[in-house]
Amino acid sequence: MREFLGLSNISPQICRLLQEIGKLGEGASRSVYVVGGFVRDLLIGRENLDIDIVVEGDAVEFAYQLAKVWGGKAQAHHQFKTATVTRPDMLKLDFVSARNETYPSPGALPSVEYGTVAADLCRRDFSINALAMRLQPNAFGELVDCTDGLRDLRAGRIRTLHERSFIDDPTRIFRAIRYEGRYSFQIVEADQQRILDAINQGVLNLISAQRIRNEIDHILSEAAAPQMVNRMCEFDLFGAVDPTWKIAPNFDALWAAAGQAIEWASISLTNAPINTRVILWMTLLTSPMAIEVVGSRLALENQLCTKLSVQTHMEHALNALSVSSKPSEVYQLLNPYPLEALVFALMQPHQPDWRAGKIGNYLTHLRDVQPLVNGDDLIQRGLKPSRAFADWLWKAFAAQLDGKVSTTQEAYQFLDIKK
Ligand code: ATP
Repeated sequence: MREFLGLSNISPQICRLLQEIGKLGEGASRSVYVVGGFVRDLLIGRENLDIDIVVEGDAVEFAYQLAKVWGGKAQAHHQFKTATVTRPDMLKLDFVSARNETYPSPGALPSVEYGTVAADLCRRDFSINALAMRLQPNAFGELVDCTDGLRDLRAGRIRTLHERSFIDDPTRIFRAIRYEGRYSFQIVEADQQRILDAINQGVLNLISAQRIRNEIDHILSEAAAPQMVNRMCEFDLFGAVDPTWKIAPNFDALWAAAGQAIEWASISLTNAPINTRVILWMTLLTSPMAIEVVGSRLALENQLCTKLSVQTHMEHALNALSVSSKPSEVYQLLNPYPLEALVFALMQPHQPDWRAGKIGNYLTHLRDVQPLVNGDDLIQRGLKPSRAFADWLWKAFAAQLDGKVSTTQEAYQFLDIKK
């Protein structure tokens, strides 16, 4: 029986675009479809503006024609027979040629040749992602479902399309967990077993650090990340990436603190944008050993590793603070540490209020104070640069932070230098 998708969830603008693509396809005697996440989310009733179009035939040529009609730009990736069209309104659409894929070896990137939409859907990861919608004018909105994806979607099931799926592409293990958590679906039992078997066979050693890192980044960007991390622990996926990688027992509390830290920074630190990804990774890598070993296994960027690895050291600095610490002491203790680490520390539930107050004051106030006197000023006043300079300048700055001096003149007087 032919099944048509309800289109009332698509905005009129997107609907018009899809119709235009269908018409152009008809004119060029090409069958065209919107596929994957867009169709899945349309059926679920969730907005998705990632538009992937499958063309039976050459998608690159088709994308160029469409870019011309729209007055946009097309960028082709000839090796994969794909192209991206950017419209004048900056909306991007991806075009792929319907294809068959074969995997030369497990974990390797596939080799690609033209195929039908049905073949193209069968190469996909899960049945719920193997759905397409026809765009040709006389069948616009018709569902193409060769793998019982609609049935699985209605039953809340994540199901691969063949038994070697996780071995061909181990990133699908992470993807299965991500969709399961995002939609509160269930990975079917046979696939849970295949995930365990694939992990036991060591498939994670066959994929690049970058591909694993990307998948973990995707998971960290999801609202249901805690459920997904929990599921990864059930499959011992972290241990499979590296045996030293243990997730902290209080991960849920760390995750909540990370969310609060990111929100607080977006409101209170508008002049110093923080890297939210650093804070998210702080929930996963909590020991110096894991940061070093996993950082190297996943080829995490140096800057990220450096910011992660200050945590233990920073704990000492935080412990050195006391209720009576003066602003200059707070400044001196906290200044060496990255904002992300400090904002994260600020939101830890065990942080006493007085200490949180000091960290907050450093972040929102002390950090931005500019010294009234600098080295050039001293030279201009005839002083010869010397080792003592840094000392004097810090003393003047500390007095300023502690409210003992508030004008340049007072700072010179404090240093006993004639203006
Ligand atoms: P999301 O909402 O997570 O972005 P999506 O379905 O749009 O979901 P993409 O990663 O953009 O996900 O992939 C687009 C489509 O490409 C998927 O729906 C799926 O059909 C296919 N796909 C992506 N990655 C794989 C993979 N590793 N193996 C097989 N098919 C894949």
